[in-house]
Amino acid sequence: MPLYNFFCNKCGQEVDLFLSLGELHRGAAQCPICKGKDLNGPLQAGAAESAGVSCSGSKGRPSCVIGQK
Ligand SMILES: [Zn+2]
Repeated sequence: MPLYNFFCNKCGQEVDLFLSLGELHRGAAQCPICKGKDLNGPLQAGAAESAGVSCSGSKGRPSCVIGQK
């Protein structure tokens, strides 16, 4: 499974999660620290693009849309 890097808006930590594409598209990402689902990411453009995620916005604060172009 690919490793995705997210920023948790709830606890303010960057977290790395192993997710399948299906889990990523379902929005199944969950912060391992606070168990929150208010995650910003994936932050890695390469991983995001390969997962069909289009990202815009500035570096470090990307705005990503999953499954849309
Ligand atoms: Zn968190």
